[in-house]
Amino acid sequence: MLIKKDIIIIGGGPAGIATAIQLKRYNINSLIIEKDTLGGLLKNAFKVENYLGFPDGITGETLVKLIKQHCEKYKIDVFYNEVIDIDYDNKFIVKTKTKKFESKIIVIASGTKPKILKKYNSGKIFYEVYEIKDVKDKTIGIIGAGDAAFDYALTLAKNNKVLIFNRGEKNKCNPVLFEMYKNNKSIKVFYNRNFDSLQVTDKKVKAVFQYKNSFENYLTDYIIFAAGRKPQLNFLHNSIKEKLNYLTDNHELFIIGDVANGNARQASIAAGDGIKTAMMIKDKRQKLKDKS
Ligand SMILES: Cc1cc2nc3c(=O)[nH]c(=O)nc-3n(C[C@H](O)[C@H](O)[C@H](O)COP(=O)(O)OP(=O)(O)OC[C@H]3O[C@@H](n4cnc5c(N)ncnc54)[C@H](O)[C@@H]3O)c2cc1C
Repeated sequence: MLIKKDIIIIGGGPAGIATAIQLKRYNINSLIIEKDTLGGLLKNAFKVENYLGFPDGITGETLVKLIKQHCEKYKIDVFYNEVIDIDYDNKFIVKTKTKKFESKIIVIASGTKPKILKKYNSGKIFYEVYEIKDVKDKTIGIIGAGDAAFDYALTLAKNNKVLIFNRGEKNKCNPVLFEMYKNNKSIKVFYNRNFDSLQVTDKKVKAVFQYKNSFENYLTDYIIFAAGRKPQLNFLHNSIKEKLNYLTDNHELFIIGDVANGNARQASIAAGDGIKTAMMIKDKRQKLKDKS
């Protein structure tokens, strides 16, 4: 059965939610399809200090709680499932794992996925911090040395020992995070460590790095890869890829937030994209009404 919706938003992170809330303010209903939980990547943030209105900063977890309350207040419609395919033939057909939808307008706000250096099937290896944020008395290795790596380290260092492996010799994280790291004795950074492999046993993960002309091993309880992220668009059918410019110029398809913003991956930018998108949808609908 094909379920008809006016507007479908893929992804319930800041970009998707801001779109849905702003649309509601114009009395326009939409459906968010979210495969995980509302709030998107923000649940991982140690402290968000650049989102206006929170002069003392706010933890990612608390900001997500507030965003969920905002959704409840506006009675935002959410269907929890993964979108696996979007096709186009005068209208969009959105397939999830269990249901199929039809819609005239699609907003893709699906964020990013981690870059995978090597695939490992193990419950000890992660790509985001929230799944292990409450563990205690462990040794956790983080592979990567950008903002996310240091942010994850600060979350985990409250109750654990954290090792950051940087493949270069310079720090790439922002100065505020670096200052917080410098004052934290539970985090140690290793430079010029080129990731080689992981060896997982029942109890531990041995991380192997190339260092100078030899190999070094580090015994950890968990490993988090924080080696960059890339746009999450694997559900786009070829029929859409071929018409991408036409569909976006015609305001039938919007691609917003982190999935579209390259390195400018920030919650306030994503939320701003969402509000702008909702305004464009409202204008398009008004023009169509005026014509008819
Ligand atoms: C550790 C860390 C710290 C950060 N700190 C800050 C900070 O201090 N300040 C700041 O402004 N930003 C910060 N960010 C960045 C911020 O979290 C992102 O910029 C923001 O969440 C992007 O919003 P988005 O809606 O574009 O994407 P996301 O938040 O990634 O949301 C995308 C959503 O789409 C869903 N989705 C993806 N594919 C599908 C599919 N096929 N079907 C259904 N649903 C799907 C995902 O599950 C996800 O919920 C931080 C990020 C991290 C990781």
